[in-house]
Amino acid sequence: MPDRYCAWCGHPESEGEHATCRRRLASIDPPRYCPECARRMVVQVTPSGWTARCSRHGESASAPSVG
Ligand SMILES: [Zn+2]
Ligand SMILES: [Zn+2]
Repeated sequence: MPDRYCAWCGHPESEGEHATCRRRLASIDPPRYCPECARRMVVQVTPSGWTARCSRHGESASAPSVG
């Protein structure tokens, strides 16, 4: 049973290739799936980045940009 999911495509981290997903997540794109349960998250883009809310695991936000 996978314990983490790709936040971009929602598939288990241990399955498949997620290099492209990681590149997208490392850029400005917000995640779309909860890494803990693969639920579709409610994503809002904010002036400083984004917030993403899982109905089960709550809200996460982009790391604040330094400077
Ligand atoms: Zn992926
Ligand atoms: Zn979740």
